[in-house]
Amino acid sequence: MKLFDTHAHLDDAWFDDDREAVIENIKNSGVAHVMEVGSDVKSSEKAVGIANAHDFIYCAVGIHPESADGADDKDFERIKELALTEPKVKAIGEIGIDYHYDDCAPREKQTACFERQLDMARELGLPAIIHDRDSKGDVLRILKEKNVSNAVMHCFSGSAETAKILVNMGLMISFTGVVTFKNARRAIEALKVIPLERLMIETDSPYMAPEPHRGKRNDSSYVRYVAEKIAEVKGVSFDELCRITYENAIRFFNI
Ligand SMILES: [Zn+2]
Repeated sequence: MKLFDTHAHLDDAWFDDDREAVIENIKNSGVAHVMEVGSDVKSSEKAVGIANAHDFIYCAVGIHPESADGADDKDFERIKELALTEPKVKAIGEIGIDYHYDDCAPREKQTACFERQLDMARELGLPAIIHDRDSKGDVLRILKEKNVSNAVMHCFSGSAETAKILVNMGLMISFTGVVTFKNARRAIEALKVIPLERLMIETDSPYMAPEPHRGKRNDSSYVRYVAEKIAEVKGVSFDELCRITYENAIRFFNI
């Protein structure tokens, strides 16, 4: 069995008291690889440090839409420098648009930050990890305008119709523990239309803990619950689902 948690935030302050013990437990639980994802310059630097200290962890560097407001040229240069000089960096992320909270960065700042990093990912030949929360179609519009295909839509929460559009554009789609929730009907409908070779699994830990751990701190060892549920929906064995999503991630991140 091979599990690849393609989206985790081990740099999160929630792990400050026991990070090394958590990582040890993830490794012992049978998870083969973790993609540790940054959300601003500081957390991206932390992500690189975590990946460099652990063979089985890779990382992504980028500026999340929630940090878009304060991001300046120096920050984008630092992200680029990390991507160019650190061999464990395998993607730009997470980047995107989030209009869910009113106090998030202004819309024009978010779109500019997103577009700039999409261009950076293309220039560096790296895949992009995309966050889309209530973007009212802006993420999809920008991806189309820029003809982006080397990207994953992380923590997918859209409709089956949107999933089909993304698949046709060539994107990967990744699901969290949300698929295990009782009210996950929309995610399940989307899952059904996505070909197995376009699927990846993730925890988005420490958030989004799957059932039966919903509401608690999440970590990569729980990615198996996401795999179990997706295997059930797609009508394949757990081992087969793990193998396919693992190979998808290895190919997508060019590992
Ligand atoms: Zn995330």
